[in-house]
Amino acid sequence: MTWSHSSQPSLLGVQDIFPAICAVCARRSHGLAYGTKLGEPVWWLCDFCVYTSAMKVSEMNTMKLNQFEIMAMEHAAKETVEDVLDAIFQQLWGAGIKSLEDMNGANYKTVLSSVAGSDDYKTAVQKILLTYSNQIRKDVQTQAIPF
Ligand SMILES: [Zn+2]
Repeated sequence: MTWSHSSQPSLLGVQDIFPAICAVCARRSHGLAYGTKLGEPVWWLCDFCVYTSAMKVSEMNTMKLNQFEIMAMEHAAKETVEDVLDAIFQQLWGAGIKSLEDMNGANYKTVLSSVAGSDDYKTAVQKILLTYSNQIRKDVQTQAIPF
């Protein structure tokens, strides 16, 4: 069963009458839903996940879905570690910290704050999330579990 609603769904973490997270890839849903069983809550989907992905996920057991999630997280970690480190090193360098001996309790908290607020780090985190969701979507469609 698939239907749509006309209002824009909320962002992640915001309570609304419509669910906000895609049941397949964890991105923001966009008004398409998949009904698993009569009387059960529907699964909302994003613009990128399709009915067949929801159908495949609904037929998986927890262990198989966990494997898809682990594979997608490992892929995202591998693909984005350089972006995260670059964002951190840029802030360290900008704060004049060029070796671990230059780090102390006072500048550590300042660097943490500047990393968390930097555009490079925010871009890296966004890349992690997108890499994860793109990978799990691809793996679900291809049923790419290596066992
Ligand atoms: Zn999705």
